[in-house]
Formats: sequence, C-alpha cells, structure tokens
Amino acid sequence: MTGVRSLLKRFVRPGAGPVARVVVGLIALSICVALLADIAFNLFRNDEQVAREIRKRVSENVAIQLAVLAQGGDRIAIEKTVATIINREADIVSIGLRQETGELIYASPGHLTSWQALGGGKSTLTHVEVPLFSGGKQRWGQIEISFRPVGATGWRHWFERPAVLMVLTLLIVGGLGFFVYMRRVLTHLDPTAAIPERVKLALDTLVEGVLILDVSGRVLLANRAFLSMAPAGERNLVGRKASDLDWLVAELGADRMLHPWHRVARSHEAVTGQVIDLARGSEGATRVVVNASPVLDAKNAVRGVIVSVNDVSALDQANAELRKALGDLRESQVALEARNEELKRLSEIDPLTSCLNRRAFMHQAGNEFARAAGAGTPLACIMTDIDKFKNVNDTYGHSVGDEVIQQTARILKLGLRPADLLCRYGGEEFCFVLPGLDLAQAAVIAERLREKIQAQAGPGVRGIPNLKVTASFGVSSIEVGATTLAQLIEEADQALYAAKQAGRNIVSTFTDTPWLDASAEASNPKSGTEGLAAAMDEIFDPTR
Ligand code: GH3
Ligand code: MG
Ligand code: MG
Repeated sequence: MTGVRSLLKRFVRPGAGPVARVVVGLIALSICVALLADIAFNLFRNDEQVAREIRKRVSENVAIQLAVLAQGGDRIAIEKTVATIINREADIVSIGLRQETGELIYASPGHLTSWQALGGGKSTLTHVEVPLFSGGKQRWGQIEISFRPVGATGWRHWFERPAVLMVLTLLIVGGLGFFVYMRRVLTHLDPTAAIPERVKLALDTLVEGVLILDVSGRVLLANRAFLSMAPAGERNLVGRKASDLDWLVAELGADRMLHPWHRVARSHEAVTGQVIDLARGSEGATRVVVNASPVLDAKNAVRGVIVSVNDVSALDQANAELRKALGDLRESQVALEARNEELKRLSEIDPLTSCLNRRAFMHQAGNEFARAAGAGTPLACIMTDIDKFKNVNDTYGHSVGDEVIQQTARILKLGLRPADLLCRYGGEEFCFVLPGLDLAQAAVIAERLREKIQAQAGPGVRGIPNLKVTASFGVSSIEVGATTLAQLIEEADQALYAAKQAGRNIVSTFTDTPWLDASAEASNPKSGTEGLAAAMDEIFDPTR
C-alpha cells in the first residue's frame, strides 16, 4: 500500500523525478499515436457502426423472406418464419408486416408496443422499415423490424468504448510498465546518479574494494578491486541491491536492516571494522573488513553510502601462521627445557647406580653444609665402602661386580629422606650428607644400612647363590668440628678407614677413631652406636 502511494506521488507530484516525467511523456506519445492510427485506419470502430451494418443485412434478409411469403398469402408460414427469426436473432425484438394503407397484416407479439414509426420511410438503429414492392414496382406495404438498443447507455457505456479502453489501458498498464522499465534504464543513464568517469578510474586504482550505493542500497559503482573479490560471473553489479548479492551478505545475516549500508543510511553514522568471509564458491572464502560511511548532502540527508571492503585474508593467514609458529616455538621450547632438564639430571647422576655423581654431589652438599653451618643446625656425613669387593670382581667377573654395586646403591637409596644426598663417591664407595642429623643419629642410620646390605645385597644379585656382600661405614658430623665440607668428608673417610682396619662390616664414627679421641672405644666401635639404635627408631621410619 505504501509502495502504491509513493508510486502515485511520484507521478502526480509537480517536479517529480526524471523517471515520472519520462513516463508521462511516453504515455502521452503512445495515446497520440493510437488516436492518429484510429483516424487513419479507423482502428477503434464503435459498436453502433458495427451494429448498423449487421442490422442492415439482417433486415434485408428478413424482408426478402417475408415478402415472398406475403405474396403467397401464407399467414401460417409467415408466423413460423418470424418466430424462427426472432428466436435466432437475439437483437430483434419484434417484426411486423404492414400494408401501404397502414393496416397491420401480421405482427409478432409485442410489436405494437415496441414499434415506433418515424414516418417517411425513415429507419433508425432500433427501428428499421423495409418497403415492399409489387411486380409493377408499386409499393404495397412495409416490413417493420424493432431491434434492441445497441450496448449500454450512460457513462458505463462510454467506458466500454474501444478508444476509451485503449487510453485507459495505456494510462494504467503502460504507465506502470514504462515506470518499471524506465527506472531500470535510468539507473544506468540518469546523469544525477552516474559517477564521472575520472572518479571511476581513480577508484579503480585503489587496492581496497569500493562500492558506492544509493540510499536504497543499490549499487551505483563497484571498483575493480571489489569486482576481483566477487565470484566468477559476477561482473555487472550496477543497479543491483547490495543486500541481494548472496556471496557478499552470506555472513551478514538474513535481516537486511542490519547490513552495514542500511545501518548507515538509518543512523547517518559510519559502521567500521566488520569482519566477514566473502563466499567464493569453489575458490573458498576471502576474509575482509567492511567499513561503510554515509554520503550526506548540504541538509545532512543521506544521499548514498560508500562501502570499503578490505581483503585481509593474507594478513589473516600470516597471523595464523605466526600464531602456529609461536605455538610450535613454545612447544619446542618446552621440549628443549625438558631435554635440558633431562641432560642436567643425566649430567648429575652416575649411570650405573643413578646416585648423584661426585661433581653434582660436591656442589649440592656444599650448599647444604653452608646452610647448616650458617644456621647452626646439625649435618652428618657417612662414607661407606663395599668390603673386599675386588674379590667379587675376581671371582664372578666385572658384571657381577657391577650388579653388587647396583644392589648396594639400591639399599642405600631406600633409606634416604628427600633432603638427604647420596653420591657414588668412587668405584664401590658411597658418600651421604644428612642434613638435620647429629653424629649419633647418623651412626644409627649407618648401622641400619650396614645390616640391610649384609642381609639383602648378596641375595639381590641374580644367579650367584650365597653371595656375601658387606660394607663398612665411617660417620662424622658437623658438630665434631669440621669447618668445610671437604673436612667433614675427610673425617667420615677416616672413620671408614678405621672401620676397615677394625675388621670391616662395621660402623665407625669419627670420634671413635683412636688417633682423635683416646677415650673412644676404638677396639669396639659398634658399642658407640648400639645404645642409640632404639632412640633413632623414634625418628626414622622403621621400614628403612
Ligand atoms: P676393601 O675391603 O679394603 O675395600 O677391599 P677392596 O677389594 O674392596 O678394595 P680395593 O680398593 O682394593 O678394590 C676395589 C675394586 O673395585 C678395584 C676395582 O677394580 C673395582 N672397581 C672399581 N670400580 C668398579 C666398577 O665400576 N665395577 C666393578 N665391577 N668393579 C669396580
Ligand atoms: Mg672396597
Ligand atoms: Mg674402595
């Protein structure tokens, strides 16, 4: 309804647009041509003319038939013939046969009322009088035929006239047809809508796609860059609505009013940075950024919309690759860190026993010693060495010797707390640092380890039944007086030496060593540790 109203407005409004003016002109021209054709070729003959000719011929035929019958005096035949004629010719109302004297010889029903004689032998379109002559050319009577009036009367009748119908048809149908056609044509030709060629050329040099739309969203110009983003075959966009371009609006949603150009036309404000994918069929999709700005006139009314479409798929791709590269880098960094960690761990451990190697041990134990010395807390050191190990190698071979070292290390490790450090100090020699333990406590630990080695290390070696493995232990602690780690280890080593000297498979504390403490029970080093064993059960896990 609104559409019809606006259409009418365009036609009747003075100074209407170019389309309406051209359409009015075309209709007027068409009507003139049609009327001239009518004058020249009598195209629009009216009903009266046609009826007059037909009635003239019908009347002549009726007159000939009835004249013959009247001469024979056959009244019945006249009646039958008249009835048949009235029945067949819907236009005829009544027929009468009158003598020259005025006497009515025969009249069909209703003839007296329907017949209106004009006199003087005159006929009209509805009342036709055909004279009858005898052989001597003497008029003896007349046939009277009453016809129905031709067509409807009044203004309705006027509207049914072919010429009027033609003019009305041209006005309505022609007007609509011309309007639709001219609008389409003038979209291309309207000088007010056309973009100057030099502007087109300038826009074609841009890398960015540009669309210029009229206020209804119809394309007035699409520059070369924009066309290059369109799917193959989409070359002529001028005159089409941007919202009808499926490949453009695929991601903008079905609601046209939300498309950027319509939003701009409504709000008068630019819409920027809308990222969408242009569908390009088999060529995949192009990621673009759409910006739309209004073209305003002096009165701030929107006259059109400029849409820029920036292809960012390369940038997007580069970003994706960069993100992937960063991800890969992060992954490889993590892997590298893990490998470094592993390498560091491997560089710190002894491959045969997985205990710390001497270098790592000295570093870490040095830190522990400094911490304990600084804090004045206890810290003990135990040196242990497998007894008569050379014999194992000599008797069972080197690989069995290795296994004995591994079994011994396994048993020693089982007794470790998280803060303790264990190192393979030499071939079959191990060294502990035990933070928080004093000499007596460490001696108890050493004693327990000695017992376990004696009980488990030999049986742990496969294939050598009854293998006896024992180890000797030397214990020292910071409280005895060492001021450096090296000194502490040296003290433990001396205690170990004492244990070897005392017969092996023995725990000896540094204070037990006779050259340091004459009162110590050097002959029975075990006695210094036995009393402590029970007390240490309280401190350490009995499963050690
Ligand atoms: P003691 O009771 O006095 O300690 O006597 P021992 O035989 O254990 O002492 P010695 O130091 O004379 O012998 C240690 C032997 O350990 C010498 C060496 O060949 C051997 N050995 C050192 N490292 C390894 C090793 O990694 N594997 C094996 N199988 N043997 C080793
Ligand atoms: Mg040994
Ligand atoms: Mg040794």
